[in-house]
Amino acid sequence: MKTRKILALSTVATVITAAAIYTAGELGGNTGPAFNLIKTAQAAGSVVKGPNVVAPDRYVYYPGTEKLDRREVRVIACGTGMPDARRDSASACFLFEFGNGEKMIFDLGTGSMRNINALMIPSEYLTKVFLSHLHTDHWGDLASLWAGGWTAGRPVPLQVWGPSGKTKDMGTKYAVEHFLKAYNWDYVTRAYKITPKPGQINVTEFDYKAVNKVIYNENGIKVLSIPAIHAGDGPVSFIIEYAGMKLIFGGDTSPNKWFVEHGKNADFVIHEAFGTPEYFVRDYNQPPQLAWRACCEFHTSPQAFGKIMSTIKPRHAVSYHSFAEAIDGVRAGIRETYDGPLSVAVDNMVWNITKDKIVERMVVSSDRARGVRGPTRQPPPVRGQPSPMSDFIKKGEWGPAFNAQNKMLDAHSKKYNLKKMDWRKQKPWYKPSK
Ligand SMILES: [Zn+2]
Ligand SMILES: [Zn+2]
Repeated sequence: MKTRKILALSTVATVITAAAIYTAGELGGNTGPAFNLIKTAQAAGSVVKGPNVVAPDRYVYYPGTEKLDRREVRVIACGTGMPDARRDSASACFLFEFGNGEKMIFDLGTGSMRNINALMIPSEYLTKVFLSHLHTDHWGDLASLWAGGWTAGRPVPLQVWGPSGKTKDMGTKYAVEHFLKAYNWDYVTRAYKITPKPGQINVTEFDYKAVNKVIYNENGIKVLSIPAIHAGDGPVSFIIEYAGMKLIFGGDTSPNKWFVEHGKNADFVIHEAFGTPEYFVRDYNQPPQLAWRACCEFHTSPQAFGKIMSTIKPRHAVSYHSFAEAIDGVRAGIRETYDGPLSVAVDNMVWNITKDKIVERMVVSSDRARGVRGPTRQPPPVRGQPSPMSDFIKKGEWGPAFNAQNKMLDAHSKKYNLKKMDWRKQKPWYKPSK
């Protein structure tokens, strides 16, 4: 991080010390992201020493403005909510950016690509996806990364890592194969018109029963998998090792022995903490007999989350998987059993993690921000492929409107030297402009 930021960070660190068991974010956050942001900005804002000066730290992260140190990791919460994703809260998704340049997406829940796109990262760097399990709130936006990134210029296939299942049809490989079948029309038409390669998805499926086994080992980053207990066989939690640090993304799981054993002394731990049973009765109209199982049998309650964290003692704990209005209850529940460093995550929270320091801020970007251009241009369309369009449909093209754009297209053809590949010449309606 740049000097200006480091200066600012020491302010945040002071706040953490002063507030003892609280992180800077916790000083504020009670009723949602906006409130959280305002209060934490106050907490870290320091003193503005004149009417026309650069303000000290605003407790924000502006995407693309900070280079990571080699041994640093930036984690961004791109989805922290529930399956019924909403505008301020996508479903589960955490982007890990490493100081060596690697980027990995851990879960890709419904709605989360909106937050990822707002980080303005070229799509060619967003190719590695790790799925903890196959509930849609953890991979529902694969379609958006897949086709959206393809359109936005990703030149290469996606890579997906995910667990096997109790049977073949419950595994990640099956899921992705059938995902591509379901989206066959999209694939065929885009492959023909754009270029086929970015539409491929390479799947690495690993044994969901593997305990602390390496499933990825490249470029100084190791990812290991442990089983999770959630709804059925298959779900896993990921342990990420980098620069002498251990970071964990839990996915969905109820309290389990593997997490407690292998999560010990981790630097940074993301684990679900569900809303209280009362919240699900009140806001979801769940029958009370379902609510206390949903929260506390196939997920992890705040109190159970706290017990896990006070046992494994991470440098920093992050809870997620609840909407903003449930956060009060989640925080209070966690504090019954855990008094260590904590973030109750909301979308767009960001953490910079090094051996010395963990700093929590909020991402600030424009609603119109998008993945920007990268250095690599996509290969051109592959020629000689059969068209997915019949003559019957082609003959429906209405010439006058097509010809009305000729002047503009002639200029494009001239600029990029496209005369030899002028598609208009094959059209029965084509009337060259004079
Ligand atoms: Zn789930
Ligand atoms: Zn979930």
